[in-house]
Amino acid sequence: MPHLFFRQVANVVLVVILPVVIVMALSVGAASAMVVRTWKSHDGVHSIDAEFVECKDGRVSLRKGDGDVISVPVSRLSAEDQAYVIEQTSLGPKKRTFTQLTQASNRLHAATDVLRLYRLFIEDESVPEAEREAAKKQLPIWKERADKQMVRVGIRWVTPAEANDQRLQARQLTDEAIRLIGAGQDNAAIDKCVKASRIDVDSILADFLQGLIYALVRCDAKLANQHLSECVSRDPRSIPALNNLALSEIRLRKYAQALAHWQTAIEVAPSSHQVIQNLGRLLELTKRGRVNIPPSLQRRFADLYAAAAVSANAGKFKDGTGWLYMGYYAPLTDSTDHEKAANSATSHTNTAIIKTGSGTGFVVKSGYVLTNRHVVAGHAAWSVVPSGNKSRELSASLVGVADGDDDDFAVIRCPELTAPPLRFVNETIVPRGTEVMVLGFPGMIPGRMPSLKSTRGTVAGLPDDSYNAYILDAIVNPGNSGGPVCDATGSVLGILYARTAVTEENYGLAVPHSRILQHLKKWIPDYDRLPPSAEVQKWTTVDGIASRSTVLIWIQDTESKPWTRPPAKSKQSETVAPFEDRWCMTCYGRGTVKCRDCQNGTVRAYRKEVKGRNPVSGQIFYWDVPIRVPCKVCHGTGFVRCPDCHHGIEKGLR
Ligand SMILES: [Zn+2]
Ligand SMILES: [Zn+2]
Repeated sequence: MPHLFFRQVANVVLVVILPVVIVMALSVGAASAMVVRTWKSHDGVHSIDAEFVECKDGRVSLRKGDGDVISVPVSRLSAEDQAYVIEQTSLGPKKRTFTQLTQASNRLHAATDVLRLYRLFIEDESVPEAEREAAKKQLPIWKERADKQMVRVGIRWVTPAEANDQRLQARQLTDEAIRLIGAGQDNAAIDKCVKASRIDVDSILADFLQGLIYALVRCDAKLANQHLSECVSRDPRSIPALNNLALSEIRLRKYAQALAHWQTAIEVAPSSHQVIQNLGRLLELTKRGRVNIPPSLQRRFADLYAAAAVSANAGKFKDGTGWLYMGYYAPLTDSTDHEKAANSATSHTNTAIIKTGSGTGFVVKSGYVLTNRHVVAGHAAWSVVPSGNKSRELSASLVGVADGDDDDFAVIRCPELTAPPLRFVNETIVPRGTEVMVLGFPGMIPGRMPSLKSTRGTVAGLPDDSYNAYILDAIVNPGNSGGPVCDATGSVLGILYARTAVTEENYGLAVPHSRILQHLKKWIPDYDRLPPSAEVQKWTTVDGIASRSTVLIWIQDTESKPWTRPPAKSKQSETVAPFEDRWCMTCYGRGTVKCRDCQNGTVRAYRKEVKGRNPVSGQIFYWDVPIRVPCKVCHGTGFVRCPDCHHGIEKGLR
């Protein structure tokens, strides 16, 4: 079994379960001696002399003779070049070292995953003996850590209790920070956040709060940008962090980056009204000449706005409203959190439900939908969209979640759903080579509603000791998570939950149905397994059977706003929504701009000084000594009132 890089396939978070090959491969590609060779395009028209740098997300980076690095999609290269890339990035025996193993382990979060990785490495006969010996020596340490269920927090391995402790500590600090902001003590609040960010390096909350303070209270786009970038690097698919980061980039005139971040936010889930407002406002300000965006980017912003506004049904841009920042949402860790989430709507924090991702599921009994654990776990609510009716959204509640290591599945109940259940196959494990069809709702086009796709392939690998999953060679993408894997009779043999990523190759991973059935009996009252159908169908018929029962699941979280009125220090008026930024685009809230008539408040002038006296005539000579006097325009302050706003607030927004 090849080493693979696993990702979950929900649109929410791409959690790396076992990042072996790609991690090692990239470090190999970057470190090994570089060779300049001639690269050709697939049609043979273009060629270039360059050295290989790395291969990532299906694109190859090549360094030209002049040092410029260009990026080319792998699919655009000639067959020979593609083979070369695969050779460079795949792990030949000579390239597997213990150092690479430790690097890969440093990216994992659970000690059990590291242990698994070590075992694979030690058992792998293509790895040099000495390297395997080195790994063997470390094995007892990892066994012990795995026994204690240790997890990684930053660079430290700690027990779940310790990790929880740290999380709580950080949470207390951020709660305190929120209180301090309300009291107008943003310095003290920032101190608390800095500590919290260091203690819980996996959470984005502390940096998120700092981003908001710097952006909305301190009017410091640079520092806001720093902290919000940190949030996005910790959680690349957090919609609030992406939206807020994009706003700080607009202030810094980094328009291309802002575009990319809003695009990602819209890819993760249908856009929220805040994103629509911000895109609309940007276009409006461009029209008025208050913002200067290059024309090519303007078009792309306009396209994104159009796509977002059409699909989301979340209203249009409102003139007279400023930039809208978003509140944060934190994953819920246990069931009491769910109650808290429901209650917090009435407490001091403002909460709203926002869509933060999507996944797939299928009906196993009328009104019951099987999906992945990672689609439901840690989220506040879900809604189900039947495949035949895109405009209907039915609410769903949680029924059961499996907790085994490889058991990435759960059941939600959706009483209004009338779709018929799917059947399961009879065999415990179907043979390798079985032809399959995978159905799901991968989100392919930003801003468009994910639509049902079915792809085909075969069972390429069977569950074994290393991975308790089917390996399928069908194409799957984020959003496919929780989709059914059907055989030619239209019966389900597994549920899709992850994909592998090795250069261009992607395999799907599915939990075998035999591990799911016992849970269904436990969770669903009167669950009766339907007899499998014996008849082999045409694939179009299989698609017809399975698509009726496959549903899109929207993942929802509660958006919390840490303050309900503008923080005390903020000069924005009380009527402004607390997360609205109305600061002037020219002076960013200062209300003043640099005086043009002087230099830092002074202008050049001359004073007459006695230079000497003619000893004969007694005439006095003067000379002009240059001096600086306070500027009359700005009264020596160096600043004059900003012509574009009223006291720092954008015209038209007061
Ligand atoms: Zn101004
Ligand atoms: Zn002046």
